[in-house]
Amino acid sequence: LRRAGPAPPPQAGEGCWVLPVARFLLLVRQGGMPVDARAPYDPDNVFARIPRGEIPSRRVYEDAHAVAFEDINPVAPHHVLVIPRGAYVSWDDFSARATDAEIAGFVRAVGAVARAAGLVEPGYRLLANIGPDGGQEVPHLHVHILAGRPLGPMLAR
Ligand code: AMP
Repeated sequence: LRRAGPAPPPQAGEGCWVLPVARFLLLVRQGGMPVDARAPYDPDNVFARIPRGEIPSRRVYEDAHAVAFEDINPVAPHHVLVIPRGAYVSWDDFSARATDAEIAGFVRAVGAVARAAGLVEPGYRLLANIGPDGGQEVPHLHVHILAGRPLGPMLAR
């Protein structure tokens, strides 16, 4: 039975779904589905397929631990992604499970990619998005290297 008349005022606890739904809609509008950084690794995600050569990419670097390629939708004049070869969903997953050799290899690869592109003197920014609030869209750890102009404040206020 539905009663006519104005809706009753919200009770304590009601409306708590609004924020998560709004965040989800914002992420979808920004062009990607949010990634759960704790989810099991999907071996068919796009960044798993790039090192296997199943998806084309503009590769700029590779070694035993890492692969780097140009971002398909750059947000700076220089926008390269560096990924570990291992199967890690996120920075959280990588920092918890990767071996010391994988971590050292990956960190050195990120530095080598930036140095080889001549970015040290003008400067550059490293960025890793983790999980829904971080805006992560692809469920394989990747570090963005952004450069080529003054990049402004770290985040829009
Ligand atoms: P994130 O929001 O940190 O997960 O960033 C994902 C990034 O991957 C975005 O900057 C996309 O433009 C980029 N991207 C998605 N698919 C590809 C692809 N096939 N090749 C290169 N970059 C891609």
